[in-house]
Amino acid sequence: MFEKILIANRGEIAVRINRACQELGISTVAIHSEADRDSMHVRIADESVCIGPSAVNKSYLNTHAIISACEITGAQAVHPGYGFLSENASFAKMLEDHKLNFIGPKFQHIEMMGDKIQAKKIMNDFGVPVVPGSEGKIKDVEHAIRISNEIGFPVLLKASAGGGGRGMQIVKNDEELRKVLPILKQEALSFFGNSDIYVEKFIDSPRHIEIQVMCDTHGNFLHLYERDCSVQRRNQKVIEEALAPDISEDNKNKLYKICTDAMSRMGYLGLGTLEFLYSDGNFYFMEMNTRIQVEHPITEMITRVDLVREQICIAHGEKIFTTQENIKPLGHSIECRINAENPETFQPSAGQVQMYHAPAGNGIRLDTFIYSGYKVPHYYDNLLAKLIVTGRTRNHAIKRALRALNEIVIDGIQTNIDLHKKILSSNDFKQGAVPINWLENKIDKI
Ligand code: ADP
Ligand code: ADP
Ligand code: MG
Repeated sequence: MFEKILIANRGEIAVRINRACQELGISTVAIHSEADRDSMHVRIADESVCIGPSAVNKSYLNTHAIISACEITGAQAVHPGYGFLSENASFAKMLEDHKLNFIGPKFQHIEMMGDKIQAKKIMNDFGVPVVPGSEGKIKDVEHAIRISNEIGFPVLLKASAGGGGRGMQIVKNDEELRKVLPILKQEALSFFGNSDIYVEKFIDSPRHIEIQVMCDTHGNFLHLYERDCSVQRRNQKVIEEALAPDISEDNKNKLYKICTDAMSRMGYLGLGTLEFLYSDGNFYFMEMNTRIQVEHPITEMITRVDLVREQICIAHGEKIFTTQENIKPLGHSIECRINAENPETFQPSAGQVQMYHAPAGNGIRLDTFIYSGYKVPHYYDNLLAKLIVTGRTRNHAIKRALRALNEIVIDGIQTNIDLHKKILSSNDFKQGAVPINWLENKIDKI
């Protein structure tokens, strides 16, 4: 096994990775920016290295500083977490060139799936149903207009390199498309370094269903069932649950097989998530994330597989400890993303946590990095904590989540805890599946 791993991330995921390393007897190196000196991930790691100023491009995205930190500390592998460099193929390649191990898939697969246009083409070739749209990037406005009229408005213009819910825009007609396309191209270039745009049919009121896969170097291509991430705001997930309610076993089983077959055709390695829209009983592939996902704990809770531990073992060349037949889902798990944000404007908020008290008890897991007195910097993602609750049934999990949300105390900064309480006590959510546009449409009515 690796002796030392450098964790190239911050926040709750850096803490999560540190825990998996400790349990495997691996020593850890935290990297941090100047703003993160007092951050939890720095305190709990065995060693830490300050790699630059607060701005992410000078610290957490500074590949040269990270590789130097590996060399100085003697770390053999890098865990990138999610966001930051986790889907950066050239970083994975750089590590390989330096004889360092990237805990993730091969850089070729990151590259293939990171370009969403190419990803859809490849999956389509593998027999995975994809969202209808342009086959390839938009050449010019006229091309976009022709395709949009063929598939029918409204359509979604998407940046091929987009992510995190950003880089997409709905357009209703030719005129709007003419206006929006050049702006989106410019934004895509400045945010993602790539101006390629593609067109997709805008699917009305679908659900977001994603399949977790896990593959090793020994020819095992497994799935760990699905997650339903339909409670979203601005294309960003707010609540996720596993398994997805109200979809037939038969329909799900077909999708698991499609996904594992595609992974086997690709020769994929490590963890991955295939994201689909689900509408009228049909699944449509959107994209694949080639990394650990924010909402991975709900899958861990219902399958009892430690995904981060497996990810590390797989990267070291080990065989997955179990078989498909032995991964059986049990119970129902829900994750609430607790963000530092203004409850009225949804703007991210920074400030000092005055008092923090974590909920506990049967079926409760809280993945976080905050503590009483911690100052939340404004430079980074505003995710503060993930409340993960597991119960025997969906109904049980909902009640348990509400109980935990009533116990948790995060004073001094604004959070979306009340929003979570509203969602979980709404009749629509309690009754079963909701579509991706439900939260935004109902936000003032629930
Ligand atoms: P998940 O699919 O795991 O729920 P998200 O889409 O919420 O992940 O993204 C996880 C984190 O990664 C967020 O902090 C998000 O801002 C960031 N992220 C994801 N993709 C990109 C990207 N292409 N560019 C920049 N940041 C990204
Ligand atoms: P990201 O890389 O930012 O995660 P995705 O392609 O996964 O981008 O889309 C993010 C979210 O946007 C989806 O979860 C879904 O809610 C919405 N979305 C994406 N594509 C479509 C579509 N064709 N029709 C309707 N909604 C969509
Ligand atoms: Mg996505």
